Amino acid sequence: MTRLTVDLELCEGYGNCIFEADDYCELTEDGVVRLVRQDVPAADLARVELAVASCPVSALQLENR
Ligand code: SF4
Repeated sequence: MTRLTVDLELCEGYGNCIFEADDYCELTEDGVVRLVRQDVPAADLARVELAVASCPVSALQLENR
């Protein structure tokens, strides 16, 4: 299973990831990302990879477990 993680020290709330995958990422009142879900099935992988690549500060990662 592939898992989406975030380093909140890096996130600056640009929101690019939400544009690409709003069913995985949302913005909190504090202006940082909250992961709505983390397990990424194969069918969603390409889309979530785009979200990860779109982050200007590389706060998102995909890990294989
Ligand atoms: S694109 Fe990156 S910096 Fe912007 S909200 Fe998403 S994780 Fe945070």
